[in-house]
Amino acid sequence: MRLYSTLARDLVELPAAPGPIGMYVCGPTVYARAHIGNARPYVLAVWYKRWLRERGYDVTLVHNITDVNDKIYEAAPGASAERARLATEWYLEDTGRFGLDEVDFWPKVTESMDEIVAFIADLVERGFAYEVDGDVYFRVARWAEYGRLSGQKPDQAEEQEPNPRKEDPRDFALWKANKPGEDTFWPSPWGDGRPGWHIECSAMAEKLLGPVFEIHGGGLDLVFPHHENELAQSRARGYEFAKVWMHNGMLRFTGEKMSKSIGNVETIAEVLDRWGRDTVLLFFMTAHWRSPIDFSDDRMADAQARAEGLREVFRNRSEPAPPDAWERFQAVLDDDFSTPAALALMHEWRDHQLLRRALDVFGLSGLAREEEAPSEVHALAAGRLEARAAKDFARADELREQIEAAGWEVRDDSGGYRLVPRQ
Ligand SMILES: [Zn+2]
Repeated sequence: MRLYSTLARDLVELPAAPGPIGMYVCGPTVYARAHIGNARPYVLAVWYKRWLRERGYDVTLVHNITDVNDKIYEAAPGASAERARLATEWYLEDTGRFGLDEVDFWPKVTESMDEIVAFIADLVERGFAYEVDGDVYFRVARWAEYGRLSGQKPDQAEEQEPNPRKEDPRDFALWKANKPGEDTFWPSPWGDGRPGWHIECSAMAEKLLGPVFEIHGGGLDLVFPHHENELAQSRARGYEFAKVWMHNGMLRFTGEKMSKSIGNVETIAEVLDRWGRDTVLLFFMTAHWRSPIDFSDDRMADAQARAEGLREVFRNRSEPAPPDAWERFQAVLDDDFSTPAALALMHEWRDHQLLRRALDVFGLSGLAREEEAPSEVHALAAGRLEARAAKDFARADELREQIEAAGWEVRDDSGGYRLVPRQ
């Protein structure tokens, strides 16, 4: 099993099954209905967990909810906690519609304060962090490996606005003293305040997966500063933290510009309403997880046609696939989880059992329904066959129309006829 790691800048071999494999994938900051791009790391994490399990691994998946953040204070002044609670429900509801129930833990910042405060206190004690006027900052100069994950050079890492309280412009906040307009805060040894963004993931990952675990995921936009800072603060405590850093490419809007004012879809909920889960999942399969993926009506229509093509296989007779078909499928997924290569193989197969097994990896076994027509529709089809044999084509056409009115399509084949659900 090989997976590309941003940290190694290469493919990395996973330990032999059964692992265990701990996976931590950064989740959303909850202040609004999540954008379709937010669904990509979620879907990827869940699929990879399912594939690892198929290959005999014991996997624990953690996907956090950032429910304390500047964006939430800005989105709902004076009511940030209520907004975060509501937007958390939205995210669980929206991702729940994929029907891929694989996340083992959904930790929240507001429920992890003790661990976060203890983590920061330990960094202060070790000399990796310092307190100024109720803020606590990580001392980047103390951590020689800083920049190894993202490749950022110190001058690129400097903040736009100089903060005179920092020893070094690269230093980042672990704890922020409460400020006017911030309606939630927690007690700490440095006074009332709230955590900075990066510390939560280090603390929650350690709490749920232990100090060393296999895979840390998230969008490519999180490499710097979020993950660089997570890595620095966790390794400064003396342990390895995540071994493989799995960053998915971003979702881009192409074609017609997406905008709420002209009514184009963009949230997970809107995209699922319009296209349905099967099409959205197939759309995500069409690009390698490390590449960007372009979202457009054309790309979604292509995914819809693929879904229909796969459904069609189950309306026809099963034909055996080549004996090495499953091994080839395994090989492309084992090697950096190439879903486009897996999908290309699946489109070649007419073997119902094999295709159903592959679809199930991606939560798409709903496409593998072999629907059986009711007996009265079979009676109409049999009557039509007799009418045709008697060359009564008017009667045969009439029966075909009745079959269609009942929601079925009759197809002639060597065995007489087949009934498939109408589109
Ligand atoms: Zn994170």
